[in-house]
Amino acid sequence: MSCKIFHRCGGCGKKQEFVNSGRFRVNANGNCVDVWLIYRCKKCKHSWNLTIYERTKPGKIPHDLFEAFQANDEDVAEEYGNNMDFLKRNKAELN
Ligand SMILES: [Zn+2]
Repeated sequence: MSCKIFHRCGGCGKKQEFVNSGRFRVNANGNCVDVWLIYRCKKCKHSWNLTIYERTKPGKIPHDLFEAFQANDEDVAEEYGNNMDFLKRNKAELN
């Protein structure tokens, strides 16, 4: 089970619970890629992208992991959803 996380929602304009959507967003930009895990506001479904990799050379990301991001692997999404370092780095407020 994922941790409950809270964040100020741009849709509701106040702090809300956000839910792990289980989906990743991968964006290639020249030689670098960005990878996010998408959370959604429980109330209004406003999305919030939590950074996993930022401006990273694809060769630095383990191949299996990169494929998991592209396939929206649920287990990997769940792992990140319970990764305290990742959540703190994204300024998620834990309950
Ligand atoms: Zn909201």
